[in-house]
Amino acid sequence: MKVLVNPTEQELAVALTRPALETENLENLIKEVFDAVNKNGDTALRTFAEKFDRVSLSDLQVSELEFVEAESLISEELKAAIRTTAGNIERFHRSQELRETEVETTAGVLCWRKAVPVERVGLYIPGGTAPLFSTVLMLGIPAAIAGCPTRILCSPPNSEGKIHPAILYAAKVAGIQTVFKVGGSQAIAAMTIGTESVPKVDKLFGPGNQYVTAAKVYAQRLGVAIDMPAGPSEVLVAADAIVPAAFVAADLLAQAEHGSDSQVVFVTDNEVYVKQVQEEVKTQLEQLPRAEIASKALENSTVIVCSPKVWCSIINAYAPEHLIAMGTYEEMIVEGTVNAGSVFIGANTAESFGDYASGTNHTLPTAGYARSYSGVSLDSFVKKITYQRVSNEGLKNLGNVVVTMAEAEELQAHANAIKVRLSGLDTLSKSFRALDLTNESNSMQSQTLDLTCETKVSSSSCSVTEGVSRTALVERFIRRDFRDIVPYSSARDECEGLGGVFLDANENGLLNAFNRYPDPLQKELKKAISAVKGFNAKNLFLGNGSDEVLDLIYRLTTTPFLDEVAYLNPSYGMYSVLAKLNGVRTRSINLNEDFTCSVADILLQSEGCKLLIICNPNNPTGGVLSKEELEEITTGFGGVVVVDEAYVDFCQELSLANSVEQYDNLIVVQTLSKAYGMAGLRIGMAIASEQWIAALNTVKPPYNLSSVVQETAIQRLNSENWKEVTATIASERERVTQFLKTLSTVSEVFPSEANFILFRIQNATKVYDQLLAEGVVVRNRSSQFNCSDTLRVSIGNIEENNRFIKVMQGL
Ligand code: PMP
Repeated sequence: MKVLVNPTEQELAVALTRPALETENLENLIKEVFDAVNKNGDTALRTFAEKFDRVSLSDLQVSELEFVEAESLISEELKAAIRTTAGNIERFHRSQELRETEVETTAGVLCWRKAVPVERVGLYIPGGTAPLFSTVLMLGIPAAIAGCPTRILCSPPNSEGKIHPAILYAAKVAGIQTVFKVGGSQAIAAMTIGTESVPKVDKLFGPGNQYVTAAKVYAQRLGVAIDMPAGPSEVLVAADAIVPAAFVAADLLAQAEHGSDSQVVFVTDNEVYVKQVQEEVKTQLEQLPRAEIASKALENSTVIVCSPKVWCSIINAYAPEHLIAMGTYEEMIVEGTVNAGSVFIGANTAESFGDYASGTNHTLPTAGYARSYSGVSLDSFVKKITYQRVSNEGLKNLGNVVVTMAEAEELQAHANAIKVRLSGLDTLSKSFRALDLTNESNSMQSQTLDLTCETKVSSSSCSVTEGVSRTALVERFIRRDFRDIVPYSSARDECEGLGGVFLDANENGLLNAFNRYPDPLQKELKKAISAVKGFNAKNLFLGNGSDEVLDLIYRLTTTPFLDEVAYLNPSYGMYSVLAKLNGVRTRSINLNEDFTCSVADILLQSEGCKLLIICNPNNPTGGVLSKEELEEITTGFGGVVVVDEAYVDFCQELSLANSVEQYDNLIVVQTLSKAYGMAGLRIGMAIASEQWIAALNTVKPPYNLSSVVQETAIQRLNSENWKEVTATIASERERVTQFLKTLSTVSEVFPSEANFILFRIQNATKVYDQLLAEGVVVRNRSSQFNCSDTLRVSIGNIEENNRFIKVMQGL
């Protein structure tokens, strides 16, 4: 290590100069690779694999079987570490999802910005001496959070044609399913141009040797973006003698073992301390398997001994990728640093934390780029689109300003684009005006508001605010271009009680069995439900099963390809299907292994979503959140919270149905299919404020519940003792639970508040098949997240449960 004591500025500049990135000399070579891939596609990739990886490949893509095989090849301990790391990376990167608010820059001129994912991203992970599976997580997880639809990974195969199993396991954890056995600059070429197997991408990420780096620079010329220019990894450690010399030595070596070109700088104020650190380096180096690489890197490293007063200017001039600030001056260093990729503060904070597991990204700017670049983050995987909408009022208020500016710049066509609109203002068609008026009613600051709302709850971020009507508060959650839909209205409803001769609906008056349309607003059925469930009928919306209600909530609130919905994982499968059907992006909030999740985690991970769906009790786990937790979530979430209470009748005290008037952003969904035993009639419901019910009616098919269904349900509702029914199901659930707990093959029976039980059993799939062979159908949930080897059994009637128990006993 070179030691400089109180160096001059010039000496410093020389000592801290990095070796130049030599991509230019490689250009011809890189061009040849790109040309070959362009001309011969997959064949070129196979030829390169034979030449560089010494392997002949038939399939370039990693198969499903290879993923499974990889999982069996790595230890449980490493898998658990990868999952913990992944959780932290996800938590930290989710916190970067900032939802920007709409701004009304002039009355009637609404502007906003939204992050939209890069469509196709390609990640490169080097093979070579160290399998960088941590980088798979660092790149794959933010790409998944951003919602990039195509996420592929290339990595070189070994001589057996395999990719390191930890890379494949990390890819699976990060949600990457498409992995190719392609390495080096040819991988970059393949992802830039596209081949028969490897899709072309829009942006490339990941580290690599000089060839890969040069290929990424070349790819930019072909219109593909890259994460950042890359050079050898580097650290600057700034510490005084109160920090154990062993810590400093270990940090310097951790950097040095990356590669012989690693850059290591140590800044301190005491020459005796430098000697101690050097002694420590010697001792520790002897123990390292990569000692040779590390000592080569240390030969080029620099130690600077000078007053702490000038440390920050040295740090800022060097702009290190990693800065470790330890000891007496750590706070001063943090305050004074303006150029660094990532800063590690305090004697405990080894750079290794950030390299692996704390959650920050380890893909950082090197070679002094920290002066102007940031490390990889969620932002790297999105582009931010700006939007604006100008109403008639906005046109009037700002139009002339634009005309003046455009004419002064002598761009007459620009001015005309406004003028034609201004002059048309008075003659626009009635329907256009009507549409625009609804837009105007959306801008909350510029209008006189009808104060229809009486409830005022100030604790909730989404609660009713003084001076703004309830209608407007609900309206802000409704899909912008749906806000002016007028709901279907039947003449019969409009003229209720006025006529006896019905000639309004083109029905067949000659017949009288089912010749009349049913009541579209289902008034009698709502009354009957209200009587049994204790809700106010005006807070009810009915649908063809709660599946239809959920679908209509998606349709009403989300804009295709812009909005995102968050839900727990695992949970009811239809949430993701409905998202797909409605063109909504999805975000899964992974539950812990015991199927719990904290309020803080749910809020953090759903930040920025339009909808958050919480199934309570949750299907398939049976677990619940408390009423207080749900209220905290509703208060803290910026979008609409939908609590799916399909199973709440078995634990009624948890229901939020009686709180819907307190929250503008809460919709509760229930069903008559479960506790009320009417699955065959298909009746689901939303319980929400009257303004929400009015909004849902705008997207409802006119006659979504038939007259037979309505009448039958009214009869059924009045003919059972529902308390008794649910009590029997609860005691049967307890009986089946106790039985399952006696089985030696059952390792876990998850506590359930619903009418089903999830349990973990050895060889679940085999047990499922055996039950099926005996005519007992349960649900195999083993493929869902965190649900390996689980079955879900519904509580049936006493004979059905006995049958289940008997078959299980006989297995
Ligand atoms: N939500 C959940 C959580 C469910 O499990 C189900 C059905 N299994 C539904 C909604 C849909 O119920 P339905 O359409 O019958 O009301």
